Parts: sequence; structure tokens; C-alpha cells
Amino acid sequence: MPESYDIIIVGGGITGASLLYMLSKYTDAKKVLLLEKFNSFAALNSNSNNNAQTLHFGDIETNYSIEKSRETKEEAEIVLRYLGMLPKSEYDSITKKCGKMVLGVGDTEIQKLDKIYDSGLKHIFPGLKRIGPNEIAKLEPNVMKKRPMDESVQALKSDNGQMVNFRNLTNSFVKRAKLARNGRVSIKLNTKVTSVKGSPGEFEITANGKAYHAKFVVFCSGSYSLYFAKMMGYEKNLSVLCVGGNFYTAPKVLNGKVYRVQEGGIPFAAVHGDPDITNSRITRFGPTVTIYPELEKGNSSTISDYIRTFDFDLATTSSLFNIMTSRDIRSILWKNLLYDLPGIGTSMFLKNEVSKIVPSLTLNDIKLAPYMGGVRPQIIDENKKALVLGESKIKKDWSIFNITPSPGATSCLASAIEDTSYICDQMGITFDIKGVERNLVNKETMQITMRKLKNW
Ligand SMILES: Cc1cc2nc3c(=O)[nH]c(=O)nc-3n(C[C@H](O)[C@H](O)[C@H](O)COP(=O)(O)OP(=O)(O)OC[C@H]3O[C@@H](n4cnc5c(N)ncnc54)[C@H](O)[C@@H]3O)c2cc1C
Repeated sequence: MPESYDIIIVGGGITGASLLYMLSKYTDAKKVLLLEKFNSFAALNSNSNNNAQTLHFGDIETNYSIEKSRETKEEAEIVLRYLGMLPKSEYDSITKKCGKMVLGVGDTEIQKLDKIYDSGLKHIFPGLKRIGPNEIAKLEPNVMKKRPMDESVQALKSDNGQMVNFRNLTNSFVKRAKLARNGRVSIKLNTKVTSVKGSPGEFEITANGKAYHAKFVVFCSGSYSLYFAKMMGYEKNLSVLCVGGNFYTAPKVLNGKVYRVQEGGIPFAAVHGDPDITNSRITRFGPTVTIYPELEKGNSSTISDYIRTFDFDLATTSSLFNIMTSRDIRSILWKNLLYDLPGIGTSMFLKNEVSKIVPSLTLNDIKLAPYMGGVRPQIIDENKKALVLGESKIKKDWSIFNITPSPGATSCLASAIEDTSYICDQMGITFDIKGVERNLVNKETMQITMRKLKNW
């Protein structure tokens, strides 16, 4: 007999774990099961090695629109509120405040920074300050050391830098979900879902050759979520571009996060320098931007699934052509392609990226960290013939598919609140919205989140 559940979540990264927490703590859902194919949580993108560990607020992400900055700020504040409820030792194992700035190098970037700051960021983020070379040198001496005298620099310094070990945060959600349910939450690790079929209210999921029945299914499977949506026959007109990101490491040269100016509308940040929350002796530079034909970095067994997820029809091909030939994306991709070349790749990366942030670093100081990095599943919007900025959520009757490029770890709880609201409404389950408002969402200031709660 197949095991039966009310809700099955597929994927034990930060998206699945935060939803498990939300359902356990704030609803009366009876039987919830989480299936994860690896033997631990946060094994892929949510692992702290594989992402940039930034709690994004939208203040130094110069590629965001003002609306995206506002939304991201709310999402980050929800995470901060969760963290604020934890005992100190748990809080300290997950997060740490740090300095944070976005650096403009040369007149064109400085003009861009000024424009973004004056046209809105300074109103949304009163703590964001424009600073010049002297103040930069005080905060980050290595950013100014050995910089050519004639190179102009300016930065926006933020007062809300926060690095997060998203793996530990994922584990915290799982632990608290179990506590909220007195151990009644069902979790199966080492359990790989291979198929989903059925109809709303009566889904059958097969994992490790065994059938599970669920009324509602939520795929929090990272780059695999669209694969399963397509298996269900949904969203034939969407495809995913898997944008790989690698990191390089150097001895510690930065005190906080130093982001660079990025073109508006580009879905990935320019290479930045970051401290590592798991290793205080190093600075990380990245992520690079490489298109992989894989759903998981370095896992060639995912190539055939990637091909199944990608529609090679006219609309997709022409969208892809449009994206690849757009001036800004093309130049980023070509530049990054060079970084993968053996021999000259690292020196090109040093010259084009690292030395803009820390001019004094040499080839001996930096090395590619093959064990770090992941894949950002960017959705291709065939109507706009463009890449979607940020996360995508496909909601169908009694099913949800979460596709989570950056800043998907920051938006985990906001996403979980939205999903829970939708699930409860469809299934007629009680959602303790008052509890969520009391603990996590300030309904006066978090307008975008409140709108999502009402307008699912
Ligand atoms: C290079 C890089 C840098 C980033 N930097 C940041 C950052 O600084 N800040 C930020 O907020 N975000 C960042 N992100 C994005 C962030 O890491 C992701 O959005 C987030 O981790 C996604 O979490 P997830 O749980 O949705 O997906 P994942 O962490 O990928 O988890 C998906 C889970 O689903 C499981 N799964 C998949 N298929 C199956 C199956 N068939 N059966 C069972 N289980 C399955 C996987 O094993 C995995 O555990 C970055 C991403 C990358 C790649």
C-alpha cells in the first residue's frame, strides 16, 4: 500500500526546509512529508560552500529594479526576524553582521552608482551612504592599496551587511519544524523522486521505486522543479538556463562584502569579494557566470534531464538567441568563458575582476575552489524573450514548483509564507496568519509580502 500524505515537499534545500517549518509551526496540516535525495539537508545550492552567503537587501545589488530592491529588503527582514527569535548559540552558528559596500571603479560606474542612489535607493535605505577613497581605505584598506593614482573610485556603504550560513539556517528550520510538531514531521533522506503523476488532490510520487500519495505536492527541487512541472504537462512555454557560478579563494584581504556595479536587469551580480562565514582566514571572489548543460554543477548524469527540461522549439530557440546576443549578457558570457580556460583563465579572472576590487593581489594569491559553486536556474520568459530576474514560482491546482536562482536563499521564508497561504486556501487548512504577523511579518512596512498573502 502506498503511504498517503496531505502534503509532500520534494527537496530538502532551504526552500523545502523553510516551507516544512512554516507548515509545521503555523498550520494545522496533519500529514506532511519531505523527500530529499541526498543524505543531508542543503546539499546543493543551499550549502554555504556553493552560494555567496549574502542576505540580500537590494541596496548594493545594482542590477535590481527599485521594486525588486523593496521586495528583497522585506524578504531579508523576515529572515532577520526569524533569526532574532533563536537562542544566541543557534543564531551565532548561522549568521554574523559584516561590512558591505558596492564599489564603482572609473567614471562610468561612478555615474551609474550616483544615478541609482539618487533615483531611489537612498530613500529605501537611509543607512546607505556614499563614500569616497579615504573612507573606503579606512573600512577596506586593501581596496585602495596599490590602486593606480588616476583610477577614480566611489562606493555606497550599507549598514545592514549580514552573512549567512544558509546550510545551518536550513538545519535550523528542520529542527524547529520537528519541535513544533513534537516529532510528527516525516522526513526521508536518501530518497530520490523519479516521477510524479495524477491530478489535483490525488498525486502519486515515485521515489526509490516506492509510491507515495499526496493531495498537494510542492517541488522545492532547485533546478529540477521545472523538470517536474514539465513532467506534469505544465509550462510547456518555459525553459531554464542553468547559469553556473564558481568561486576563487585568496588569503583574507577584505573585512566585509565588496560588490561591484552591475548592469540593470542582468539577473546575476558582477563578481564580488566576500568573507567566508565558515573560514575566517580566506576571502572568496565570485561567482563566475558560465552556461552549463547540467541541472547540477559537475554532475554529468543531469545532462539528459536538462535536455528534457529545455524545449527546443522555435519560441525557446529564438528567446535563447535573443538573450545570448544581447550586448550586456554576451559580453559577460564571453568574458567568463575565458575564465574556464586552463592556463590563462585564472590570470584573466585576476586582471578583469579581482584586481578591480583588490589591486594588490597576484596570481600566487588566488586559486579556483573546485569544491565551491553551484547552478542558478534562470527561467527563460519566452514572451519577453528574456531571462527572469530572481526566483520563479509556478502555482497550479494543488501543486507548486519553486525555481530558485539568487536571491532564493534570502527569499526562503517569504516564499514559504506565500506557499503556505496558497496551500491552506486550496486545502481548507487553518493558517495562523496572526502568528506569522506577530513573529515574522510587519504588516505596516512589508506591503509586498502582505499583498502576496492576499493575492495568491
Ligand atoms: C553561485 C551562487 C551564489 C548564490 N549566492 C546567493 C546569495 O549570496 N544569497 C542568496 O540569497 N542566494 C544565493 N544564491 C541562490 C541560493 O543559493 C538558492 O536560491 C537557494 O539555495 C535555493 O534553495 P533551494 O532549496 O530552492 O534549492 P537547492 O538548495 O538546490 O535544493 C534543492 C534540493 O532538492 C533536492 N532534489 C532535487 N531533485 C530531487 C529529487 N528528484 N528527489 C529528491 N530531492 C531532490 C536536491 O537534492 C536539493 O537538496 C546563490 C546561488 C548560486 C548558485
